Amino acid sequence: MITVGSPRRTRACPPEYESCAEAPGGGGSGGGAGGGGGQGTGTAGQAELEAALAIYLENAREAFGGWLGSDDSDTVMQAIADRMARNLVTGGSAIAQNALDTPSCAGLFNLPAGVTAWDVLQSKVTMTYVPEDDWHTFASTTYGANGSVTINFNTDIGSNFVTSDASSAADTMIHELIHAVYGLYGANAVAGAIAQGWVNDDGSGSAAQQAAAETANFAVVKNNCFK
Ligand SMILES: [Zn+2]
Repeated sequence: MITVGSPRRTRACPPEYESCAEAPGGGGSGGGAGGGGGQGTGTAGQAELEAALAIYLENAREAFGGWLGSDDSDTVMQAIADRMARNLVTGGSAIAQNALDTPSCAGLFNLPAGVTAWDVLQSKVTMTYVPEDDWHTFASTTYGANGSVTINFNTDIGSNFVTSDASSAADTMIHELIHAVYGLYGANAVAGAIAQGWVNDDGSGSAAQQAAAETANFAVVKNNCFK
């Protein structure tokens, strides 16, 4: 199983901030809170979210009379983050589906007659929910040796995805769906996206190359699906 150039969506800081240092929870190399794919607003950084979850857990311990021991904290926090990610995909699905129905967004794909990108996501792609090492990663798409395609939504506590919103989740789903369709049907199946600058391998090369690819790919989805 290989991850195709570990396609992912990383941005140093959300576009609404002029520099990473201005972003909430930002600062440092590659720091910055995850802007919700440009669709949402700036969101809490990982440290802020972990602090908020710690308070939540403390209240939960009091409420349950000490039933939750300290050893359970990480497990409970991860379970909460997992649930948040799944809820985001549920909420984002309706938005993504509506966007994919628009001619400009549908035009990114060149699928066999009668097959829509949404069909592909529902019937040919495996969606998983696993914490990834890099909390900047919203999601990643992996091509299996047997031709299978998996999209993983990053459930890392405080990850850009977990701290995003439904609109951003929809943006992420369509972004990964372009990777998925490319993997399942080949480059010609995303010819519309490529014509507008889509770089399928947006997770390898120098940092500058990756940043350029992410900028290009972000624009392809935004300009065609979320105008
Ligand atoms: Zn990507």
